[in-house]
Amino acid sequence: MPQRSVAENLARDLPTTPFVAGRFESGPSSQSFDVIDPVTEKVLTTVVEADGDTVDRAVASARRALDEGEWGRMDGAARGELLHAFAQLIQDRADAFADLESLDVGKPGIEPRVIDLPQTVATLRHYAGWADKLTGQSIPTSGYQGRATLSYTLRQPIGVVAAITPWNSPTMIGAWKIAPALAAGCPVILKPPEDAPLTSLLLAQLAAEAGFPAGAFNVLPGRGPVTGQRLVEHPGIDKISFTGSPETGYRVAIAAAKGFRPTTLELGGKSPQIVFADADPDAAANGVALGIFANQGEVCAAGSRILVARAVYDEFVERLAERAAAVVPGDPFDSDTTMGALINARQLERVLRYIRLGCEEGARLVTGGAQPDRPGYFVQPTLFADASNTMTIAREEIFGPVGTIIAFEDDDEAVALANDSDYALAATLWTADLSRAHTLARRVNAGAVAVNGWSPLDPRLPWGGAKLSGHGRELGQAGIEANTSLKTVTVVL
Ligand code: NAD
Repeated sequence: MPQRSVAENLARDLPTTPFVAGRFESGPSSQSFDVIDPVTEKVLTTVVEADGDTVDRAVASARRALDEGEWGRMDGAARGELLHAFAQLIQDRADAFADLESLDVGKPGIEPRVIDLPQTVATLRHYAGWADKLTGQSIPTSGYQGRATLSYTLRQPIGVVAAITPWNSPTMIGAWKIAPALAAGCPVILKPPEDAPLTSLLLAQLAAEAGFPAGAFNVLPGRGPVTGQRLVEHPGIDKISFTGSPETGYRVAIAAAKGFRPTTLELGGKSPQIVFADADPDAAANGVALGIFANQGEVCAAGSRILVARAVYDEFVERLAERAAAVVPGDPFDSDTTMGALINARQLERVLRYIRLGCEEGARLVTGGAQPDRPGYFVQPTLFADASNTMTIAREEIFGPVGTIIAFEDDDEAVALANDSDYALAATLWTADLSRAHTLARRVNAGAVAVNGWSPLDPRLPWGGAKLSGHGRELGQAGIEANTSLKTVTVVL
């Protein structure tokens, strides 16, 4: 069983300064910020913020690494070996990472152990395998002024990549950005979330140990409007890979528009989970509960709109309420805890405000709705039933353990409700009818649709959304191609 005191010592012993050009900087820059434990509300450690000058130094070191340094000249196979070495070091320290993630994010110890850390390692290994397989094509043409040509394409690193991560799963989402960029030969500047920067500092330590050349991997802790904004506005950045809220995504897109720099934007969601009358009721109730309560509901793909066929509606609401009642909020380091704390006081306020709105707008509070009687940023697992898709709790992302249940009459209405959203990230369909499953998987507007379960987290499967959920894809082949640019070369023979 992981111990809180061990994790707290780990947090205290971490280096807490920006990691630039292969080393942690020695002194404070302009500002520091406290990292707060969401369970005890106490300061875990104080981290030095990367100020404007530090951002400039990091970008300069990344550019040197690409344009003049060892990194830019390194063969793909050698990059792959470095990524494998990095993955192995992380795997060797998986418990330390998991403890830090529980401490920093407030999620129960089991979650980083079975999800975040295995996925982080798998993602690095997956892209290690890609590093020596980035090839172009040879393309026949009709010739040039009567002469034959040899035309071919080269896949080259897109340039210096800024990777900006959110606080809900900083290690795994960090790996989704770092691994394909490094595999493609891009230097990376990671800006971790100010609310949960600890595992990113450990990543920096292990990247140095793995032997990445100076400047290939940099980590700049800092607040979004300070470090993040400076980074995305920096003309030395060639591509921005961002995961976070739509509001910040918009700012990132505006900054990237100067210079027309490409972005991958992974933003929020209001994902439907559609339960048809023929679904296995227990499997559906378990899956739907997981979909809304895992990671305290602080999941971009959280299935927060629960659409249920009228024929099984009452029975399903009851089953789901039983699942909610079985959730145990508590300290992530207690073995019986199944749901942790929200990230900070602001997020707690936000979730409680949506709960109040749900009641005011006339949805029926089935269970939860309050804070458990204990310190920390906890909220009870909460379900609203008899809601309509026009209510605020059905339209806006809450990013907490709050599910909104809406009834539907038939398949067409289920699809119409599912697609009537500003978001389009993920969806689950619960049905025994395979024909319906495949037909509706095409009709539901989402980047990922899963039937009778959740899409497994696997680095081979592309991930991303549309509308306010963002654009571009991470993971899979699409994820590495997004870190390359295609050059056409023609030789007149
Ligand atoms: P956020 O937008 O507040 O912050 C995300 C990151 O952006 C942080 O590192 C933050 O410091 C940085 N940032 C803030 N302002 C910035 C600015 N002006 N310029 C550059 N960077 C800036 O989001 P959050 O609260 O950390 O995360 C929650 C949101 O992330 C939710 O909306 C959630 O749905 C979304 N999310 C999406 C996915 C996905 O894959 N689609 C995954 C996880 C989280």
